[in-house]
Amino acid sequence: MSIFTRIIEGQIPCHRLLENDLVIAFLDVNPLCPGHALVVPKEAKVHLHELSEASAAALGAALPRVAAAILAETGTTAYNVLQNNGALAHQAVMHVHFHIIPKYADGRGLGIGWNAAPIDHAAGAALAGKVAARLRG
Ligand code: AMP
Repeated sequence: MSIFTRIIEGQIPCHRLLENDLVIAFLDVNPLCPGHALVVPKEAKVHLHELSEASAAALGAALPRVAAAILAETGTTAYNVLQNNGALAHQAVMHVHFHIIPKYADGRGLGIGWNAAPIDHAAGAALAGKVAARLRG
């Protein structure tokens, strides 16, 4: 059982922001900055792509609401939404969660390393075709 399931089941306290049948949101216990929050499906899956449509829809509805409330109460206007999947991608708690991280004018918030390079269009077209075909089923 993940630590988030223990929070959902009331075994561990949290600073709760929102809760309904499918989703809970609470403050991160080790925040990058004030207002750093987590939005968590009650469904106990490790990865985003494993979620039911109902959980995914509930997360989609909760995220903008929680973000708007955090912005209003922290006086920030910018924020990042971070969602890690797999230890290789820095996931530490193996229960799906979205971070909402306000970005403050003094730099507090999420720092991002973004090692981008121009796309290889031939490889991109081949991959896009295969992924699109998979999505069409
Ligand atoms: P991630 O690397 O995306 O898996 O991040 C997991 C996050 O969960 C970290 O930011 C932790 O500080 C946070 N976290 C771990 N345990 C708790 C807890 N009991 N209450 C609130 N946040 C937690």
